[in-house]
Parts: sequence; C-alpha cells; structure tokens
Amino acid sequence: MSKERLVTGIRATGNLHIGNYYGAMKGIIELQEKYHAYYFIADIHALTTHPNPKDLKKKVLEVAKDYLAVGLDPEKSIFYVQSSIAEEVAELHTYLSMVMPLGDLMRCPTFKEKAKKHPDNINYGLVGYPVLMAADILIHQGSLIPVGEDQLVHLEIARKIVRRFNQLYGEIFPEPQPVIENAVRIPSLTGKGKMSKSDETASYIGLEEDTLMIERKVKKAYSDPTRIYKHQPGHPTVEGCNVYHLHTFFTSESERKEIIAACQGATIGCVQCKKSLSESIDVLLQPIREKREQISEDYLHDVLLYGKRKAKESAQEVISEVRKAIGLRMI
Ligand code: SF4
Repeated sequence: MSKERLVTGIRATGNLHIGNYYGAMKGIIELQEKYHAYYFIADIHALTTHPNPKDLKKKVLEVAKDYLAVGLDPEKSIFYVQSSIAEEVAELHTYLSMVMPLGDLMRCPTFKEKAKKHPDNINYGLVGYPVLMAADILIHQGSLIPVGEDQLVHLEIARKIVRRFNQLYGEIFPEPQPVIENAVRIPSLTGKGKMSKSDETASYIGLEEDTLMIERKVKKAYSDPTRIYKHQPGHPTVEGCNVYHLHTFFTSESERKEIIAACQGATIGCVQCKKSLSESIDVLLQPIREKREQISEDYLHDVLLYGKRKAKESAQEVISEVRKAIGLRMI
C-alpha cells in the first residue's frame, strides 16, 4: 500500500441513491485498496444550511450504513464522523484562517453561487467552507484528494493555504493534489438532468429501496416521448430514450442489443422494457440491501468509535506539530 494519505469527505445528506453510488461513491471506495485512506462524514459542514439536529444525527448513521453496505472497509481505511475530531479540526481551521485572505474566499464561485441561492442565510461558515475543508485534509497531512471538477476551486484554496502556511512556519504540510473522480452522470428517472437528492423522490432510486419500490418508480420513468403506441418503433439511444440511457448503466450489453432490436422492430412495449430495467437495477442492489440490513446499530457504533480513535490519534500528532511550529506555548 502506498504511504500517501488520501482524504475525502462524505456529505451527510441521508440515504444515498444509485446516482451517488455509480456516479462517484464506487470509484472513491475502490481507492481504499491503493492508499492510506481517510473517509469522514462531513456533519460539521452540513451546519451551514441549519439542518434539524435530530435529522442530522439520523442522516450521519444512514450515510455510514450505506458506505459500509457498498464495501467501505473500516479495517483497511479510517472511517469516522467529522465532529468526532471536532476539537482538532476546529483548532486547525482557526490557524489556517489566519493565512487565508478574506477577499479570495469571497470571490470563490461556489460561495457566490450559494449566497445568491440563499440570500437570507449568508453565514460565515459559507465563506470559510474552503478553509474548514483545508483543515479536514491537513489534519491528517492528506496529500491526495478525490475531487469532482466543481470542487477543484476549493482544493486550489487548500493548496494556497498550504503554501502560505509553510512559507511562514516551515514545511509542515504537503500540498494536496487532486485525484480526479471519473464521475458518471446517471440520468434522473424524470428525464431532467442527473439523479439528485434535491429533486422529487420519484426521480431517483435509493440504495435501500426494495424490489417493489424500484419497479414502481421505473414504471413511471420518462422514456421516448415520440413513441405513443406499442406498434410504433422507438428510438433506443442515449439521446432518444431516457429509459434506454438508464439501461446503458445497469443492463448487460447483450440484453441491450436485444432491447434495441425489439424496440426498433416494435415487438416490445415500453412497459416491458421498463420492467427489465427495474430487474437489472434490482439485481445490482440486492446484495447492497442485504448487507445494509445486516448492519446493526451496535456494529455501526463500534465501527465509528474505532474510526474516531484512529482519526484522533493521527489528528493529535499533526496538531501538536502545528502548535509547536507556530510558537504557541499551550501552558
Ligand atoms: S421500448 Fe424501451 S428503449 Fe424503446 S422507447 Fe420504450 S422505453 Fe425506450
């Protein structure tokens, strides 16, 4: 295993869906085989939008369950909740905030976008989000960070913080490098954009959803709008039919070839085609569901406690090195 430390945050947004899983999560989890990986559930970051405390607690556990069910191995990687090392992260965030110019943070496009979207809730946490993110990474001396294109700007801020900090206090932190996620956009069942948790529940399929629910949702999925009757040939292409587009992610190539021929020859109806899509999705989700059901609250608690201990150990080592470097006496 490489000695390089990979750090990645997981949003505490509750149950995940197949769009999250096949879109990014699967690839991120595979990285545990290659690096010394730290995965944390970002519950402190979630506070910028003021979630309900009960919901937040529940969501953290749901997300943890999902990640374990899809294969995150708490023995191979360090899996913890961000708030379980809150003291170290908050302390480092304070030190890092002293080297980061406010103007740069306020010019950050993601901040501007959020401020525009929520003009009545422009809190400090939103401006300082990239500094807290830098603290999450640097608290473990993280050098590799899986990021989507949209987060590159935050990583660039973290790199700037490192350069300024190291210039003032010596070579304390490595400059984190991006590991670009090969993110895949799984289309929404409604045919509008990609699957997203912020859209209606009918637009996505949760990892925990059962066979019946999958069938019901897929039955209502948007398909080829030009095909009204079964005797009409359809357009089984990524652009022509949303259901076919979904088949390309979940159905085998040989089965897809049969669908194309049958759709173009008008020997298969959309109802049957959707039924086969729901079956393909169900086959993939069944083992995840089964594993999820086996994860008890006690096991979850033990895993997160184990992760907390390991994360704390690593964080405390770094924070004492930082305190020393910046000249704090800590009497
Ligand atoms: S049969 Fe399938 S691929 Fe063809 S139009 Fe209907 S849903 Fe789309």
